[in-house]
Amino acid sequence: MPVCPVCNSLAAAKKDCPRCGKILLDAGLLQDFYDDYSAYLDQGIYEDGYRHYNEVYCIHLFYCPHCHFDVTLGFKRLEEDRLMD
Ligand SMILES: [Zn+2]
Ligand SMILES: [Zn+2]
Repeated sequence: MPVCPVCNSLAAAKKDCPRCGKILLDAGLLQDFYDDYSAYLDQGIYEDGYRHYNEVYCIHLFYCPHCHFDVTLGFKRLEEDRLMD
């Protein structure tokens, strides 16, 4: 079963905000985020962002606390036996 290296704290995901240059924060798994916030998010965004979530990629939501920019990034899942190396 492939696992996401970011979810398992095996890789740190660091991204700069393209708008203001501050470090984006990992808001966690997209599915977790939308469980909490789907009530007031546009349904179209939900479906589009969710589309790429699959067995190959784990989708994380990153957001900027400074300018409120947000972006979803996909991280390729790794086979567990590869993580042991
Ligand atoms: Zn993940
Ligand atoms: Zn920003």
